[in-house]
Amino acid sequence: MAAVFSKIDLHSHSNASDGALSPSELVERALNKGLTHLALTDHDTVLGVKEAQDAATGKLELIPGAELSTMWNGYQIHIVGLFIDTKSEVLLKYLEGQKVFREERARAIGAKLERQGFANAYEECRKRAADGASITRGNYARYIVEMGRAQDSNEAFNYYLKKGKSCYVKTMWPDISVACNAIIGSGGIAVLAHPRRYEMTNTKLRELMSYFKDCGGQAMEVGCSQMSLNDLNYMATLCRKYDFMASLGSDFHNEGPFRELGLGLGIPDDLKKVWECPQAERYNFPALKTVTEA
Ligand code: AMP
Ligand code: MN
Ligand code: MN
Ligand code: MN
Repeated sequence: MAAVFSKIDLHSHSNASDGALSPSELVERALNKGLTHLALTDHDTVLGVKEAQDAATGKLELIPGAELSTMWNGYQIHIVGLFIDTKSEVLLKYLEGQKVFREERARAIGAKLERQGFANAYEECRKRAADGASITRGNYARYIVEMGRAQDSNEAFNYYLKKGKSCYVKTMWPDISVACNAIIGSGGIAVLAHPRRYEMTNTKLRELMSYFKDCGGQAMEVGCSQMSLNDLNYMATLCRKYDFMASLGSDFHNEGPFRELGLGLGIPDDLKKVWECPQAERYNFPALKTVTEA
């Protein structure tokens, strides 16, 4: 089967949240893979953007972004902000609040892991991430694997971290509307992240999209890693139905068998791409940079 590769990847993580690489290492990897455009979208933080931009200067277009955690009907929904102004007051105020939530939750998860025999779990995870990083369950999952208590991150979730397991801590993230206001208020574009990963029915998914649209949401990820052609086609159908712009991103966190920068990402030609919006103009996007390799 043909491997699809995109030189544009608008969803990735560094060690400013739960990615394994520093922002400059991530940019280096993107260059090695042949990318021309990369968005850094760490969870609830823009901490890594400056370093990534500095590393990218003259070599790669680095789009400032963040992936904001929200709640909708009991589901944890991720909203990616692209082309954001990382100095915007409304955005920074929002992120400050999230930092407090995340810190409390990270310590609570750490305490629960201690009871499962992971000594100093919180401190050990902090040590592995950048100073001031957002600690997510993804950080803990990698640590659990490192300790030899799970084969991979997914197993760490199934054993310890997901809802119903011993180290799960309930969190009330802000409403989607609050996240959209912060993103749009900073001049950015609000993108519904990986719509197929919420484990909800298609009816619920359409309700979610309709609400996101009402909140000012402008785009959705149509091209995601590990998605079937059927799902891609359905996402494209929904993108047309709600008149969203289409985005694409690998959600790369670390080297592994499933996700890689630019890999497996494509968008049907007829959709309006998120990089055709006015905010994208200064980033020198091509008309279309998706290529298919034999
Ligand atoms: P949090 O925002 O703290 O709830 O953590 C969410 C992060 O955990 C996601 O961004 C993923 O990186 C990671 N994650 C969530 N579910 C899984 C899973 N089943 N397997 C591996 N990583 C996961
Ligand atoms: Mn993550
Ligand atoms: Mn996500
Ligand atoms: Mn992500």
